[in-house]
Amino acid sequence: MTCKLCRRDAKENGFCQLHSKAYRNLQKKFKVWQAASDISWSQYLVEIQKNSLTGVWAKEVAKHLIEDGTEDDK
Ligand SMILES: [Zn+2]
Repeated sequence: MTCKLCRRDAKENGFCQLHSKAYRNLQKKFKVWQAASDISWSQYLVEIQKNSLTGVWAKEVAKHLIEDGTEDDK
């Protein structure tokens, strides 16, 4: 099985090591954002994509999650 976003071998959640690390970072950062601004997961993903400071890996994961439309609540 390969990563949903690239051609590397999938390790966790259908993502490769790099994308799954980015995914975990997204989840971690979300908790911080939510505590500060009561943002929803999907709004957060949109913000992540707009944020120029977000790494490219995280943006790819965010884009995928938006397109996938999975309401994956932590
Ligand atoms: Zn990947």
